[in-house]
Amino acid sequence: MDNETAEAANYIYGKGEMSNLIRSFDWSSTMLGPINTWPANLLTSVNLLLDSSFPMFIWWGKDKIQFYNNAYLKILGTGVNSKHPKALGQKGEDTWQEIWPIISPMIEGVLTTGNSVYLEDQLIPIYRNGKLDDVYWTFSYNPIRGVQGVPEGILVVCTETTRTNQLLQQNEQQLKRVMDHMAEGVGITDTSGQIIYSNPMAHQILDTNSERFPERTSNSPEWYNIHLDGTPMADSEHPTMVAMATKKPVFNYELAIERPGSRRMYLTMNAAPIIDIEGNVTGAVGLFTDITEKKELERRKDDFISVASHELKTPITSLKMALQILERLKNTPTSAALPKMIDQAGRSVDKVISLIDSLLNATRMNEGQLQLQKKTFAVIDLLRTSSSHIVANGKHEVHIECDESLQLHADEHRIEQVLINLLNNAVKYAPDSPIIYLKAEQQSEFVRISVRDTGPGIPAEKILHLFDRHYRADFSGTQYSGLGLGLYISAEIIKRHGGKIGVHSDLGKGSTFWCDLPLSVN
Ligand code: ADP
Repeated sequence: MDNETAEAANYIYGKGEMSNLIRSFDWSSTMLGPINTWPANLLTSVNLLLDSSFPMFIWWGKDKIQFYNNAYLKILGTGVNSKHPKALGQKGEDTWQEIWPIISPMIEGVLTTGNSVYLEDQLIPIYRNGKLDDVYWTFSYNPIRGVQGVPEGILVVCTETTRTNQLLQQNEQQLKRVMDHMAEGVGITDTSGQIIYSNPMAHQILDTNSERFPERTSNSPEWYNIHLDGTPMADSEHPTMVAMATKKPVFNYELAIERPGSRRMYLTMNAAPIIDIEGNVTGAVGLFTDITEKKELERRKDDFISVASHELKTPITSLKMALQILERLKNTPTSAALPKMIDQAGRSVDKVISLIDSLLNATRMNEGQLQLQKKTFAVIDLLRTSSSHIVANGKHEVHIECDESLQLHADEHRIEQVLINLLNNAVKYAPDSPIIYLKAEQQSEFVRISVRDTGPGIPAEKILHLFDRHYRADFSGTQYSGLGLGLYISAEIIKRHGGKIGVHSDLGKGSTFWCDLPLSVN
């Protein structure tokens, strides 16, 4: 220990690397001069800094001569390119060249006004460990005052928050990745309802143009939000707004969107307020799910129930009428009306039985309970039996075209059910078609059976849903003609055989319903 260092020990008291370095440093080479000449406020501040376990730093005087403590060493980093130990006693602008333009105005501000500066999580990149590092800081610059309170130096108390910020960013990115791939649409708004994040599914559900999302608030008129009954929805009723106003989540809120020129879309929304640790609402998160298909199905089911009730009521009313007449005729067994009424009652009961059969069949299909009983049979026989009732009726001619030797291995009874349905539809929906063409032909690995009429045909947009359950292409609401189950049941039977069913239709020219059944014996 040289004499000067020994002398310094009378002024600088701490232990550890930085205390030793400060005591042994040649301060006379700086504007400060030897330690024994330092003013009391500088000595007090340096001792305070050296005794602190919190990272601290001092800039002193016009040259901003620097001091820092052991805790600060971690921030400066290590290695040949480290700012330590050069930074000790160095001028501020020589150490911090890369950030001097950012920090020197703050330093000068504190020195001239005496007001301290406090900043949280600031990104201030610095050179350390041989590279420019993105470093986040929470720090305060505090004046060290001299006589009459004039600031003479600055005490920096700081902590590095880089790791916390990295974790936060990682969490944010992870959360974003999860939301980007969610099957539900997600939207996050700030308190004004401004959308600050929306995931790709939300764009897909609500709008194909994702660029327009950021311009919107959750209650922008461009959404065309309405209630399920079609009445307009007030901004305050929007689930995200309700969640923010009540600070409570909103579950399964159903609403609709009706853009001009588009079909009505139904959504169910869950919304939750975003609340910070102080309990303030900072925004809301909303999840959308498109339930248009579900609503459409519900509507079709409702329609179906009314159709089914109507269909069942017609033969039951006619049966009741027949029974009332029979009641009146019971004592006159010779009446000519008697056999007619018994016949009418019988036909009404048959109709009820056939409707109930359709309902049971459809339920069974839906539950996957259809068991096929396959055998090999001649297709020509199948065509003749399934059309015999129409031939017998005499109102329509049936032209059959089929190679006598053509055979199929299938559930003959079920395929007959399909053909009867297609033929009955032809009679029902193409009543003015004098001839119905029933044809079977082999096409490579399968047999195509088709039923063609020359009736009104079916509009292209209706064909898409024709084989769906409960779908009636012509739903006039007054003229009911069936349960809309026939084609659904037919399609299920054909699919169960590993075949295909379809229709070609020309409006005004007629329709050809066809089904392909595989020739293989499996
Ligand atoms: P349903 O006859 O009970 O309504 P289907 O499933 O058999 O039920 O038929 C569905 C719909 O397809 C019918 O309501 C009808 O509008 C249409 N359709 C079926 N066959 C024909 C056809 N040959 N010509 C025109 N429309 C048809």
